Amino acid sequence: MALLSIQNVSLGYENHAILSGLSFTVEEGDYLAVVGENGSGKTTLMKALLGLNPPLSGEIRFGDGLKENEIGYLPQQTAIQKDFPASVFEVVLSGCQGRLGIRPFYTKADKELAREMIEKMGIGPLVKRCFSELSGGQKQRVLLARALCATKRILLLDEPTAGLDPKVTEEMYDLIDDLNRSGVTIIMISHDLEQALERADRILHIGSSVFFGTTDEYVKSGAARRFFRAEKEEDHD
Ligand code: ADP
Repeated sequence: MALLSIQNVSLGYENHAILSGLSFTVEEGDYLAVVGENGSGKTTLMKALLGLNPPLSGEIRFGDGLKENEIGYLPQQTAIQKDFPASVFEVVLSGCQGRLGIRPFYTKADKELAREMIEKMGIGPLVKRCFSELSGGQKQRVLLARALCATKRILLLDEPTAGLDPKVTEEMYDLIDDLNRSGVTIIMISHDLEQALERADRILHIGSSVFFGTTDEYVKSGAARRFFRAEKEEDHD
């Protein structure tokens, strides 16, 4: 069974549908890129997968033993996060919050997990630094380590390279590739179509037309041709 199965789902706000008849599945180990024009509903979909904005109709099913709170989430960088007054270690450890339950303290195992993820993301030398003082790329690594404390199974990444320079962007994509190769399922919202096509194995295009399939199928599809054309026209404006 698929990790996530989205069947004929309508999404929107206060009974006003933004996306209708949406169906797709995410299998263990997939790397799915969600692309589409601005305002097409990518963030709305992300919120629905996280259980923050339930579908107006249809069903989002979790399979293979995946629970709703087992999705690791890398939010888009916002001004609030940039000024977060906490150490790198504290930010990473906060990824274990979902497992706290009624216990008010983190356990030794939580702290060990946080240290393990810090090493995995190559940010060991930064543990004591204040999060707000880090570069954009370092912050993203810290937030990835935090998301991995929540789960090692599936990560939802919202524009993970927004605001990063080209070199750090490349490093971030390589890191995501490594995670995927190590078995972590990836769902990534991206406005960077070129990288999405290069890195992901499946594409979900939402907006005026909806497409779900492999990257190769997407490149040949009408949805991709129209999107490429619109992007080019935007570049010329
Ligand atoms: P994207 O992430 O693809 O840019 P969004 O999911 O943010 O698109 O938005 C899709 C549509 O939903 C937009 O028309 C937006 O104005 C609308 N929208 C987003 N958030 C809300 C909200 N909280 N209440 C009502 N409408 C919203």
